[in-house]
Amino acid sequence: MRKFKTESQKVLDIMINSIYTNKEIFLRELISNCSDAIDKLYYQSLTQNIGGLSRESFAIEITPDKEARTIIIRDNGIGMSADELDSHLGVIAHSGSQEFKNAAEHEDIDIIGQFGVGFYSAFMVAKKVRVRSRKYGEENAHAWLSNGTEGYEIKPTELEGHGTEITLWLKDNTEEENFDQYVEEYVLRRIIKRYSDYIRYPIRMPVTVYGEEESRVEVQTINSMTPLWVRNKNEIGEEDYNEFYRSSFFDQEDPLLSIHARVEGKVDYKALLFVPAKAPYDYYSKSYEKGLKLYTSGVMISEKCADLLPDCFSFVRGLVDCDLPLNISRETIQQNHQLKAIAEHIKGKIQKELLALLKKDREKYERFYRAFGLQLRYGVYADWGLEKDLLKDLLLFDSVGRDAPITLAEYVESMPEGQDKIYYGVGKTKEAVRAMPQTEALVDKGYDILCFDQDIDEFAIRVLQNYQEKEFVSIAAVVADEEDKPEGYDEVLAFAKEHLAEKVGEIKLTKRLKTHAVCLTAAGEISLEMERVLNALPNANGVKAERVLEFNAEHAVFGKLCRLFATDKDACGQLLDILYDHACLMAGLEVSDPAAYVDRVTRFLAE
Ligand code: ADP
Repeated sequence: MRKFKTESQKVLDIMINSIYTNKEIFLRELISNCSDAIDKLYYQSLTQNIGGLSRESFAIEITPDKEARTIIIRDNGIGMSADELDSHLGVIAHSGSQEFKNAAEHEDIDIIGQFGVGFYSAFMVAKKVRVRSRKYGEENAHAWLSNGTEGYEIKPTELEGHGTEITLWLKDNTEEENFDQYVEEYVLRRIIKRYSDYIRYPIRMPVTVYGEEESRVEVQTINSMTPLWVRNKNEIGEEDYNEFYRSSFFDQEDPLLSIHARVEGKVDYKALLFVPAKAPYDYYSKSYEKGLKLYTSGVMISEKCADLLPDCFSFVRGLVDCDLPLNISRETIQQNHQLKAIAEHIKGKIQKELLALLKKDREKYERFYRAFGLQLRYGVYADWGLEKDLLKDLLLFDSVGRDAPITLAEYVESMPEGQDKIYYGVGKTKEAVRAMPQTEALVDKGYDILCFDQDIDEFAIRVLQNYQEKEFVSIAAVVADEEDKPEGYDEVLAFAKEHLAEKVGEIKLTKRLKTHAVCLTAAGEISLEMERVLNALPNANGVKAERVLEFNAEHAVFGKLCRLFATDKDACGQLLDILYDHACLMAGLEVSDPAAYVDRVTRFLAE
């Protein structure tokens, strides 16, 4: 008896004790392995000119046995040697099972169907599993046997022909669960149709045919095989795409958008592309891998070809079918001109379809944007703005003046006469931007203000620079000196400048504030928000925004400041400190010394 490796043992435990309701996916997993094994052999036969293996000779057979309560799954693919049985089935090697384990540990059992859970999923329905396999080209066959608990055995066996045969002994029925169903013809048919309809090799099963007088059993092909993307668009309904997506990409939800491209001419390819309804749980993490499946001449040559998708659309799932030499290697895929042209075309296609969705179904587009909008904004910023023109019309922003998010085009369209810039404020929420001291005066003029609620927004917009020749301006940026600057305050301003010298670079009077007494702004390239974001990065090097404190000369508090300047310099300094802290708070920054701040305010209140 050989022992399972620890990791595998954990996955097995989960499988055996699984309360996961969707256990029927075990068949999808085993059939998918059969199909891969046939792909491998077929691929070898083409690339190494092995004769006698025609595409038609390949098949997957499913044989249920009601009496014995077993299911046999047989393929004539590449098969496994004794060593491979040991290394492939004794250890979990693939990421799907690892993720499954993580998800199951967090009891997020609903999402486990999303993963390719692999061979071990057989133990969700079987108490014992035997794998007999003969590797193509080898004389001897071997059997792998396990009840999933401690370990497994491998011993010589007999098997006609090459390939693999898996026998499942079903678990005993319990009060909650009826495992007998998995030997029922109609149940198996339904499961195969549901998850494995587009497997490109015939999946055959004995089926009862009822004649007028008697019934007989004949072996039929259950799956339709013709890949969906090869069929005519007008023969395919939305439900077909949805079904295909759900079963191929292990998502329980329908996609938000399905794109079926059949392109002929200079670039030549077929593609099925899907935008998921929700971001996968690991989407914004490093472990997420983008990519499309790549088929050539009906054979899958890459499970995830990253070069086919730009990063900004990394959320798209799907496949591409085109004519490439079969023996193309991973390295040459990257260099291949044809693939580059296809990738470029796909990028444009996705953008067009998203724009069309934006026009046609705003509610759906907003849902899309909630899931993946952040990625688009990163996309604008990434690679020094390489894709900014592709993406700028796909952006949506909340704005102070509206309930629903708007596009940049809509913002510009609704600008009143006299407004020649696009204004934005940075804040965690729309309400925060609405409450910023600088907002009031602009809103009074009838200007709308875009709300940037993500760290990336301001960086992205700096890359964009302008939209339809309208410059982006932060409401927290310093405005140019106004002509009719109030006179006679030079001394108090000089005092303030000196008092706050360590905190701000400049002190100004401003006319853009209404009810607020002060605001903090930044001169130069780095905004206050950017300072915060950049300093939060692991390799932060202490960048600083050039801070400017602006006073509203018409505010009563400024009057008080002037009076104190004449009568009590110390109190004047205290008030300056308080006002500076208020400006920080309104700009979304922290007060540097809360205790000192509270102390000062309390003293002022007590006077
Ligand atoms: P995955 O298919 O995701 O790699 P599995 O746990 O389903 O993981 O299978 C592990 C490995 O066992 C496969 O990668 C493959 O090499 C081998 N294998 C499983 N089923 C078969 C089969 N029917 N024929 C040949 N090899 C198989």
